[in-house]
Amino acid sequence: MQYKRVLLKLSGESLMGKKDYGIDQDMVAQYAEDIKAVAKSGVEVAIVIGGGNIYRGLEAEKGGMDRVQADYMGMLATVINSMALQDALENTGMKTRLLSAINMEQICEPFIRRRAIRHLEKGRIVIFGAGTGNPYFTTDTAASLRAIEIEADVVLKGTRVDGIYTADPEIVKDAVRFDNLTYTEAYEKGLKVMDMTAFTLCQENKLPIIVFDMNKKGNFMKITQGELIGTLVHA
Ligand code: UDP
Repeated sequence: MQYKRVLLKLSGESLMGKKDYGIDQDMVAQYAEDIKAVAKSGVEVAIVIGGGNIYRGLEAEKGGMDRVQADYMGMLATVINSMALQDALENTGMKTRLLSAINMEQICEPFIRRRAIRHLEKGRIVIFGAGTGNPYFTTDTAASLRAIEIEADVVLKGTRVDGIYTADPEIVKDAVRFDNLTYTEAYEKGLKVMDMTAFTLCQENKLPIIVFDMNKKGNFMKITQGELIGTLVHA
């Protein structure tokens, strides 16, 4: 086992599966099985999910909405996604806790760092909802921030692409994938790993990031066992 405690970041869009909007329950169930396997192997798993499949503040602003209002709506979207994943994980028999950066005591616990760590130590899968709780941030930043707070060994960014490429592999056919990169190399090459706030937080705190394809069954397990099947960004 390579890592003891990991933070998995999933985008909201990843929950859509083949749908155009919202949540594909089969996709969520597949993620839940993968996450269960990793948790059962003894790795402590914390998760941050985005909300882009439901609502994005920046896009709503372009349509004339107040940005702060729209961002809070985006944060609520992440709680909806978190609840869907929590349900799917509990269907597999796992113990979970959803901790939100915005208080919603009827449906989740408030985010309290020490409590989050305690849950992980007890083997519960912890989901962090509502991003950072602040507008103008992203769930990538929430993932980096929470990972640092809980002293995770690594941020695992699960995407539908199997790593970081010289160009977008879905557009440029001969794009080449990197196995590993330093933060400085990624920055100098202008590669998009996470947004700059999230990326800088990781760099300053020497928190490694691995970008990998979460849609392939078993990949999450391989990564946590130390197999390099994505791109590692490190100090
Ligand atoms: N958001 C926010 N603060 C945060 C995290 C998220 O305001 O700390 C809002 C923001 O409007 C964002 C939306 O929630 O557009 C959904 O999050 P994100 O875009 O990061 O989701 P993803 O792209 O990962 O699906």
